[in-house]
Amino acid sequence: MANINYMVSCATMEKNFELTAQLSKDFDSILPCFGIHPWFVEKRSKHWKERLENFLLAYPSGIGETGLDFTDKTCNRDAQIKVFEHHIVLARELNRPINIHIRKAWDTFIHILKKMGKFKVPGLIHSYSGSADMIPTFEKYGLYLSFSGSVTNPKAKKVVAALKTVSENRYVLETDTPDIYPYLPESSTFELNEPRNLPAIAQIASNRIGMGFEEFSKHAYDNSLAVFHSILKRKKDRQ
Ligand SMILES: [Zn+2]
Repeated sequence: MANINYMVSCATMEKNFELTAQLSKDFDSILPCFGIHPWFVEKRSKHWKERLENFLLAYPSGIGETGLDFTDKTCNRDAQIKVFEHHIVLARELNRPINIHIRKAWDTFIHILKKMGKFKVPGLIHSYSGSADMIPTFEKYGLYLSFSGSVTNPKAKKVVAALKTVSENRYVLETDTPDIYPYLPESSTFELNEPRNLPAIAQIASNRIGMGFEEFSKHAYDNSLAVFHSILKRKKDRQ
């Protein structure tokens, strides 16, 4: 048993808002998030702000994925920044947790944090790929750090250093499915990068930072609830 109680499912563009909402209606275990992923900012419609807000108000939900990804040097950075900042404003106004995607844009991200201030409702940086030394800054701004299967890569040094640095009450685990299939022993792999891989990811991650599996997993679970409990609460209030 993998003991998975809830799964956070993030929409990444307007086209999949409805499908993500439907998933959360069909399965009580799905906690939906709505956002425009930095890869898809150019695909947003004229009405994206209104659509995003409508879905957020209609469902117990969080915000994301949103963020900055400057991996592609030809991307429209200004558009990404504008869209991301609007998501942060919404997170504040609607008191929602936010899932942030950052790749190769750390300086710009820190600049935005300084400008916009601390998150009231905690958010997270998903599949963290930044350096260990930035972590105290992110924690100060009310953010959690989420680690994916990349911590299982035997060559991953930077991400393991980050996991060693993050406070006990500030890390969570994720699959980042369908991306980042973990490096797992043959016996514990499944065809898809699915949530039941998480205990195996936790096993390897806890070994690599020298913490017991039970303790490591309990922190990750409790911290996930700290980030997403407001969605659960909204769900319950509706029933
Ligand atoms: Zn992402």
